[in-house]
Amino acid sequence: MELYYLKSFSCMSLKFSQDQKARFLNERCNVSTMIRVSDIMVYLKCPRMCYFMNKGNELVKEPGVDYIQRLLLKELALTYGSALKGEDTLSGLNKELERLSYEFPVIYRLELAGAGDAALAEAVSCVRAWLGEISPHLSIEHYSRTCEFEPALRSDKFGLTGSPDKLIKIADELAPSIIKTGAMPENGVWKSDRVQLTAYAILVEEIYNKVVTRGFVEYARWGTVREVIIKRHERRNVLQLRDRVRKIHDGFMPEKPGEAPCLHCGFTELCEVKSTLASRFF
Ligand code: SF4
Repeated sequence: MELYYLKSFSCMSLKFSQDQKARFLNERCNVSTMIRVSDIMVYLKCPRMCYFMNKGNELVKEPGVDYIQRLLLKELALTYGSALKGEDTLSGLNKELERLSYEFPVIYRLELAGAGDAALAEAVSCVRAWLGEISPHLSIEHYSRTCEFEPALRSDKFGLTGSPDKLIKIADELAPSIIKTGAMPENGVWKSDRVQLTAYAILVEEIYNKVVTRGFVEYARWGTVREVIIKRHERRNVLQLRDRVRKIHDGFMPEKPGEAPCLHCGFTELCEVKSTLASRFF
């Protein structure tokens, strides 16, 4: 059997058969080139944030009331379909919230580490106050559809992975759906939501061999669902963004963008140091 010698990262020589070599190179290639949809979303916020996170820096979120509310609302939004099954949607929502107030800390054990009981109780009562506003807007048509929750999608061909909140089946069609807990635009959806849905649409098409023509954004705080038509120029945009993120994964440090959300960014100090060093060299 023919043997090949490859240098490992630690400069040790290793012996491989031809098959092993091909598999090794293939896996290494996939590991280094797979881009998560969430990486693209971070890139849209700030390319530099994407750079720092790829270097292993983490943005740790303090489990304050605001953050807990968002997690809880997202989890509650996954139960809107169940709440609609009873005669009274509002009491259905209240029951779901009651159940979640006990189960939620178990589901989000990691995210809620360090969160006090008082903050959890306050978040539950804030979300409860929104139920009256959410309830009348919930669409039976949308929430009664068959769906798979958080399917893990991966395409080696496109070097993309991701997991939409739901994958909805409508007759012969599949449509990704994402849940948003933040602000809702007056009309349509936010640009970043459109990009995210398009990336999932590309993944669904590749895995299920079906054309995806639409997706949905669920603005959980208002119980409102907006449909998004998947457009050609957005598909192009997603592939371009994937390539830019890949460049960052390969070590490229992007410029500090003019409109970056630095005020609330945890990387401010790191970013200043990098900028100063870069300006010294160039
Ligand atoms: S400090 Fe500003 S430029 Fe730097 S990573 Fe954060 S948001 Fe981006």
